Amino acid sequence: MHKEIIQLLNEKRLKEAFTQIKEAAATLNNWELKSQIETQQTTYEYMLQYMAMGTQDPQREAIYNQLLCKGHELADKTYFLKEWDKAYGYFADTFRKFAQTPPHSFKELDFMLEAAKRTFDMSQARKRDDKVLRFFSGNFEDKGIIEVPLENLRFEKEHNWTNYPKGVLHFLQEAGHTIDSGMDIYIYGNIPNGSGLSSSSSLELLIGVIAEKLYDLKLERLDLVKIGKQTENDFIGVNSGIMDQFAIGMGAEQRAIYLDTNTLEYDLVPLDLKDNVVVIMNTNKRRELADSKYNERRAECETAVSELQEKLDIQTLGELDLWTFDAYSYLIKDENRIKRARHAVLENQRTLQARKALESGDLEGFGRLMNASHVSLEHDYEVTGLELDTLAHTAWEQEGVLGARMTGAGFGGCAIALVNKDKVEDFKKAVGQRYEEVVGYAPSFYIAEVAGGSRVLD
Ligand code: ADP
Ligand code: MG
Repeated sequence: MHKEIIQLLNEKRLKEAFTQIKEAAATLNNWELKSQIETQQTTYEYMLQYMAMGTQDPQREAIYNQLLCKGHELADKTYFLKEWDKAYGYFADTFRKFAQTPPHSFKELDFMLEAAKRTFDMSQARKRDDKVLRFFSGNFEDKGIIEVPLENLRFEKEHNWTNYPKGVLHFLQEAGHTIDSGMDIYIYGNIPNGSGLSSSSSLELLIGVIAEKLYDLKLERLDLVKIGKQTENDFIGVNSGIMDQFAIGMGAEQRAIYLDTNTLEYDLVPLDLKDNVVVIMNTNKRRELADSKYNERRAECETAVSELQEKLDIQTLGELDLWTFDAYSYLIKDENRIKRARHAVLENQRTLQARKALESGDLEGFGRLMNASHVSLEHDYEVTGLELDTLAHTAWEQEGVLGARMTGAGFGGCAIALVNKDKVEDFKKAVGQRYEEVVGYAPSFYIAEVAGGSRVLD
């Protein structure tokens, strides 16, 4: 039976796997295992986690056990997707499955080096005959089913998370694509929300891929990437760049994406982590400040560019090497703006170096660049804070760590570390302990794998 379930999971046949897990779980009588389970986590989440793991992952078996335990708990309750089930019969065969991955960023600004991380947002969606959009997210069960008229795709605060899908559909329509009937969309993801891992971009690309499929739209992937950014900027109101959507939309197995954000020229750089894994460390602090501060930092850099333009013919800070910047930094009239701009200039240079390091297999050098990036984000860009600094600094001290830095917009959210496979457990223990001592609550850890971008599963 277990072999069969694993086979089904490997083939992403979720419905059948779920049925069998429930059956297998009903016979399970291992209370010790069962007690290890956090109550909110659903079988579905464990299924996703399991599927996301490489076959060599040492945690894989543990997750499988948890999956069974959870299934046991659920065997006589249809907790799983109950809302949706009630409304539509969740597993209606007409539904299609989608999956995609969020990014995990190494570098940012003008150039970026990114890799999609193997985590999922999944969705089942179907067209409706009328002009109503009905959304339900397993991550926001308390919001229930949110109904939105297709004919009025404006930002409405009370529509909550569905403003992201609304934005995407709005901009698709604006670009001339025909979306002429409603949809039922169920979403569930295991990307922590609001942690800087860009669950929002993941959601945007997911909706884009759904619309592309269901309405048979003629789209380049880059169009969807741009529409995701447009949604974030002009619908939600966050002035974020394109890198998150780009990594999610364009990511490839075992590749980092090198992107020039001005020209959108990009290369897929081989990403061979050898004996190391990317450990994501979540501060578990929502980065409430991040969006407004992000906009503020951008504005500071733009002002710095206009000050430098007095003598230099540049459009962005990424065009400057360190020494040119140094020679003209006297033009910037404010101490903070000098620091912000210095971060941008150096971060772009580091990205170029990071690319070279990856291409030549120099992971040590790559790790040092991660550290340098954090220092610059901490002291010059000033977007870290006690939580992120504690994670990065403690990570630096651990054996088997090549590098660590914050990721995302800062002020909470996540940091990442490149850690030797065999040291991961010690690493989690040591960093977790120290973090709890300093911050007062525990961080979470996830192991990331570099994966391909958004796609239709079935
Ligand atoms: P981040 O992108 O760093 O995770 P954001 O604040 O930009 O953080 O985006 C988080 C928001 O995106 C959530 O508050 C929610 O509105 C929306 N979102 C992300 N994932 C989901 C999901 N699976 N279901 C519903 N809404 C989601
Ligand atoms: Mg976001």
